[in-house]
Amino acid sequence: MTTTNVPKAASPAQAATPSAPFGTDVTWTNWGGNQSATPAFTVRPRTELEALDAVRFAVREGLPVRAVGSGHSSSPLVQTGGVLMDMSGLSAITGTDKIRRRARALAGTTINAFGDALWEQGLALSNQGDIDKQQIAGALATSTHGSGKELGSFSSKLRWVKLINGYGEIVEIGEGQLRELRAAQVALGTLGIFLEVELAVEDSYYLQEQITYPTWAETAATWQSDIDSNRHYSFLWCPGDDSCELLDLPGSPGQSMADRSYTKRYNVAQIQDESEISGIEGARLDRSYRIYPGGFTTQFHELEYFVRSEDGLAAVEVIQDLIRTKHPEQKYPVEVRWVKADEGYMSQFQGRDTTVITLTTEPGTDYWPFFRDADALLQEFEPRAHWGKIHFMTRNRLERLYPELDTFIQIRREFDPRGMFLNDHTRALVG
Ligand SMILES: Cc1cc2nc3c(=O)[nH]c(=O)nc-3n(C[C@H](O)[C@H](O)[C@H](O)COP(=O)(O)OP(=O)(O)OC[C@H]3O[C@@H](n4cnc5c(N)ncnc54)[C@H](O)[C@@H]3O)c2cc1C
Repeated sequence: MTTTNVPKAASPAQAATPSAPFGTDVTWTNWGGNQSATPAFTVRPRTELEALDAVRFAVREGLPVRAVGSGHSSSPLVQTGGVLMDMSGLSAITGTDKIRRRARALAGTTINAFGDALWEQGLALSNQGDIDKQQIAGALATSTHGSGKELGSFSSKLRWVKLINGYGEIVEIGEGQLRELRAAQVALGTLGIFLEVELAVEDSYYLQEQITYPTWAETAATWQSDIDSNRHYSFLWCPGDDSCELLDLPGSPGQSMADRSYTKRYNVAQIQDESEISGIEGARLDRSYRIYPGGFTTQFHELEYFVRSEDGLAAVEVIQDLIRTKHPEQKYPVEVRWVKADEGYMSQFQGRDTTVITLTTEPGTDYWPFFRDADALLQEFEPRAHWGKIHFMTRNRLERLYPELDTFIQIRREFDPRGMFLNDHTRALVG
């Protein structure tokens, strides 16, 4: 770990409040509307120096600090009664390296903002998830992922980070510090405030989309070949006729979607020139980042569990059975995706090629019995959980599921010995 060019921040005697714009009675609420907090100070740094000054202010005043990205997590990751750092003012692509296939960006840069900027340099993100609204540091903090058995999460692509630690210092972690880098790859915001990151990226590519609507029997019959033969394969299994509409997805014309899947395949396509780009629904051909989805207009709440790929089909069938027999009121599609194993200590994909199962529910309804039943039934598969979605993880569970948990906690304490970057939720998990 190296300390670099620490900018001059206000000295303790100089500043009684942060130098960045701030508010003291600002209630924060997440995208899903199920998490909120009223921090003592909500600070919106516009520069590295202002971010550093805000952390030093918190150190002096003995206040805890959390960062917020785009607020798309539905677990209580962001809440603090101390200083909330809204990182949206630190947004820019700061460099690209075509030879090494690397891109640097400020922590508050949204995934969406990478698209055009990287394309102009002949580069692209390797994969994206169901939306592109997250800030890159927010996506990294929870190991946000897309789908594709050879494709890792955003966290698996982190090669360098500059952050503010719990001493109020700016430090860098690069590939020469693998021990720390694997902690930074998925840190739940507990190592410090990320300022800038470097990701491994790819040469730019076009994707051909293919949407189909097989029955469940057909989906199960071609399970492995679909996973193996597509760059990106994922599906949403629909329990009811109108399941697709709940997520604004077009259903199969003239057919009931009950017990059918909405399957997505994206594969690399070579084109001569961009006149070949096609916007035909279900068969689009375009630059990669335009094929990946952008966002949802309606809110929902999700639980997302991760099982070993070899258990994927059995685990999905357990959930289908649960919906059919005990929770027929659950009509949202069940999304199924694949992610390649990685090495981040707190990554849900650490050491496991993974099948991802996402349960989506309607805000304002009592979905807890469904989530609790799903959690209990999936235990036989030793599931990990998405840090940014509703889950039932405890320290005891983490000890069983994450072989490098102790290493992560040791590194977290080295970066933040006073635990100033913890909140109640993260203290219980990795304090
Ligand atoms: C509609 C929707 C679709 C989604 N689709 C997917 C998907 O396809 N795949 C998937 O894996 N997930 C998905 N998610 C989950 C989402 O990607 C994660 O919850 C992600 O962490 C949200 O990023 P954010 O920028 O909103 O971060 P926030 O939710 O604001 O914060 C998440 C964590 O990042 C930390 N953080 C943010 N910025 C910094 C910083 N600068 N320094 C240090 N820590 C920081 C926060 O403290 C917090 O711990 C989806 C969520 C929604 C609501």
